[in-house]
Amino acid sequence: MRRVKRLPLEVKAQIYLNQQQKQANVKLASGNLNTSSEWKSARQTQAMVAVLKTLQKIMGMRERCMYCLDSHGSDIEHFRPKAVYPKRMFRWRNVLLCCTECGRFKGNQFPLQGKRPLLIDPSKEEPWRYLDFDADTGNICARFDPHDNAYCLKGEKTVEILQLDRREALSTGYLKTYHRISNKIRRFLDESNPSAGKLINELQEADEHGLLGWCLIGTGQNETPFLELRLQYPDVWAECKAVFYHT
Ligand SMILES: [Zn+2]
Repeated sequence: MRRVKRLPLEVKAQIYLNQQQKQANVKLASGNLNTSSEWKSARQTQAMVAVLKTLQKIMGMRERCMYCLDSHGSDIEHFRPKAVYPKRMFRWRNVLLCCTECGRFKGNQFPLQGKRPLLIDPSKEEPWRYLDFDADTGNICARFDPHDNAYCLKGEKTVEILQLDRREALSTGYLKTYHRISNKIRRFLDESNPSAGKLINELQEADEHGLLGWCLIGTGQNETPFLELRLQYPDVWAECKAVFYHT
């Protein structure tokens, strides 16, 4: 997973979404709203094709799912399920790009702690603040919070809902990316006159799964070879963080 930056929607599509939401709210107030059929008929329109295309554009050439970053993002997903939150079913900020598998696993689940969602929204927050990666198995798990002496609840729920720790193809994909990133850094550390710019370009290209977040601001920063890069080349480390995480 990685933090994704939402692009503005084209004006026509945004106007369409606003109108659809208004109509849905009226139907809801009179008890005549069927969220599934309302969504199904809207999905046929050009405006909704534009919504899907914009979500895919956010994810770049590979058009990957915003939750798993492993499979093709083919569906418009409601972060807050439309059946439970019909007042947000046509809100641009409530839709994400997702693959068939993540969509099926998530369904209408949306756990809360008070008013706070216990599912990571990759368009609003940095996932690796809540998640961890196991470099032995390739699984994604919840991050341990030493202050609370417990695993982060939002991380736990996200892993549970999207089954991020029990999808073999997903682990294989994450492991591949992990090895690619590690090798680039190892090579950099072995060179006598290494170039930071070259490393940054290579890492950008290699990171198909957003694992640089885990390396740079997650627990990966304390593991080999990321730890060595951080200690031996603090300037390069800072540059990587600035480029990838604006920190
Ligand atoms: Zn997915």
